[in-house]
Amino acid sequence: MQYEHLLVAVDLTEECDPVIKRAMALAEPSKAKVSLVHIVEPMAMAFGGDVPMDLSQLQQQQFDQAKERMDRLFNKYPAINRGDSHLTYGQPRQEIHQLAKDQKCDLIVVGSHGRHGLALLLGSTANDVLHGAPCDVLAVRLLKKD
Ligand code: AMP
Repeated sequence: MQYEHLLVAVDLTEECDPVIKRAMALAEPSKAKVSLVHIVEPMAMAFGGDVPMDLSQLQQQQFDQAKERMDRLFNKYPAINRGDSHLTYGQPRQEIHQLAKDQKCDLIVVGSHGRHGLALLLGSTANDVLHGAPCDVLAVRLLKKD
């Protein structure tokens, strides 16, 4: 079985390069589509939802910066399907799952730091995305930087 539409979740750090490259290599033989998704998490969420100041300007800056970085990736990897790629606000797991369903993706590709123990409990997007995913999920192992 060959995949037809891969959805690559990118955190827009330099670590997304190996994840994108792996997805492109997988997609190449069957000429599958490769789309990107990045989720900007609402700042109020990070502060527990109860913030006594207006974060809208900061939030807009964060979104604009993410858009610039996405554009850089589209230029660097012209084979990426721009039209089906998404930059959106929300919670990564929820948005990635919804998008994968809406776009009928058959593989979600994420980076994984191979955390274990307490670090894993404290948060891994790869782990989070795996649970309840509407399709297969590939976790691309990222090397630890010490
Ligand atoms: P983390 O668990 O946060 O270290 O991230 C591991 C992987 O999850 C990254 O390599 C991305 O594939 C994905 N990821 C993390 N944050 C985001 C985000 N905001 N939007 C989309 N994907 C993300």
